[in-house]
Amino acid sequence: MQSGQVKRLALAAGVVALFGAIPGAQPTAYDLLIRNARIVDGTGSPWYRGEIAVRGDAIARIAPRIEGAAARTIDAGGHIVAPGFIDIHTHARRGIFEVPTADNYTRQGVTTLIEGPDGSSPLPIKPFLDRLAAVGITPNFATFVGQGSVRDQIIGSINRKATPDEIEKMRGLVRQGMLDGAFGLSSGLFYVPGTFTPTAEVVELAKVAGSMGGIYISHMRDEASGVLDSVRETIEIGEKGGLPTQVTHHKIIGTANWGKSGDTLRLVEEARVRGVDATIDQYPYTASSTSIQAALMPAWALEGGRQEVLKRLQAPSRRSEIQKETARLIREERGGGDPQNVQLARCEWDPSLAGKRLGDVTKGRGLEVTIDNAADTALWIVERGGCSGIFHAISEEDLQRILRHPATMIGSDGEIPIFGTANPHPRSYGTFVRVLGRYVRDLKVITLEDAVRKMSAFPSQRLGLADRGVLREGMKADIAIFNPDTVRDLATFERPHQYAEGVDYTIVNGQVAFEGGKMTAARPGRVLYGPSARR
Ligand SMILES: [Zn+2]
Repeated sequence: MQSGQVKRLALAAGVVALFGAIPGAQPTAYDLLIRNARIVDGTGSPWYRGEIAVRGDAIARIAPRIEGAAARTIDAGGHIVAPGFIDIHTHARRGIFEVPTADNYTRQGVTTLIEGPDGSSPLPIKPFLDRLAAVGITPNFATFVGQGSVRDQIIGSINRKATPDEIEKMRGLVRQGMLDGAFGLSSGLFYVPGTFTPTAEVVELAKVAGSMGGIYISHMRDEASGVLDSVRETIEIGEKGGLPTQVTHHKIIGTANWGKSGDTLRLVEEARVRGVDATIDQYPYTASSTSIQAALMPAWALEGGRQEVLKRLQAPSRRSEIQKETARLIREERGGGDPQNVQLARCEWDPSLAGKRLGDVTKGRGLEVTIDNAADTALWIVERGGCSGIFHAISEEDLQRILRHPATMIGSDGEIPIFGTANPHPRSYGTFVRVLGRYVRDLKVITLEDAVRKMSAFPSQRLGLADRGVLREGMKADIAIFNPDTVRDLATFERPHQYAEGVDYTIVNGQVAFEGGKMTAARPGRVLYGPSARR
């Protein structure tokens, strides 16, 4: 036998091995073929008509017309076919092990969730990612390493500067986090213990993340009266740390501060002009959500953990000092000037409080609804175990101005709720489809193509996810298909447990995870590892 014949035979054997040896059968060229699509590719370019073929977990071909057999064909019916959405700010470890399918996100077309924001991440990261990889999840999942978690481990919840030795230890934890697969360093300088951290200390940790290819992303020290200084600080940390820096869930809190987004955006633009890679993310709601204690108590009152907090609240003079500050926070900051603007989300010690307004709870305690009495009620809540809350204190005008900015991407700041339980912020159910329905179609604040860019190519570029976020041959097949005429959010502050509408299909790594209004049995999500992961 000549060598050419040997080669041909070997080739034929390979083909048989690949496609199965059914005589006369056409080999299946593709696993999935999406026809009749209006493709919004993620780059911001206008939509175009085409077909997309998937083989395995990747996009094999995109063309006006694709010939060849496919194991399955989806007729998109002229709807929008976009890259699956990437959520750069989630607290999805709340719920991912209870609901590994992350229905609230998957039903919006979200295919990748990023955890570890606000300075709070699992630590160490590796066991968490190992557990995720073992459990079988629907969306892809990744994490940052949190500055607050790192500081808590080395120094605790204490208001003091770190020693040089402690800084070295913290740098070591950040380095380990990056080696374990983090995508960068997050901070929550508003929260305890982040709030006790001098800027220069954050810079020292940022340098480690930056040298290993990571980004810095920050829930800033102050999103109310001090928001301009906080944006300056975020930019400074990026500049001195030598890494991309991001103002996360950018918003302006408190009626007295409304309108300041004009100035914050100008600061970001000026930074970009001088070469600082500063960007923004945002959720499309005029209310924020965090714990009652973080939002309505001064940071100094939270030092040292719960027992210390309770001790302070039991000492009458300390308590009245705290209550005065709580009243100010209700008047000028997260309270939006009215106790009715504060809504309880989840109270472990009394689930019936979920959804109630602080004014009504104050009344329920037999008190007249004044800001001072509402402050007393807030402290009463903290004493009983605390609650998470929703704070209606953001203006629509600031929201839209930030959304229009080209350096703003979308992130939910959400979690994975247990369906029907508690009264979570609706952003977990609605962020992405709300942008597409309300802000693209109904209000025309941004174009469809720009919205998709803010949810796909932009966050993927920011994170360095080189193989996701754009619909192009060779990229991973993370795909959202939706009807631009009907896509919308249903979740409200009163009735948050309502899934998105208008998404036809969500495809993760080439597998259909959601279709026909139902989750499938597929669990195609993968743990994604950052730029310095040692694996
Ligand atoms: Zn935050």
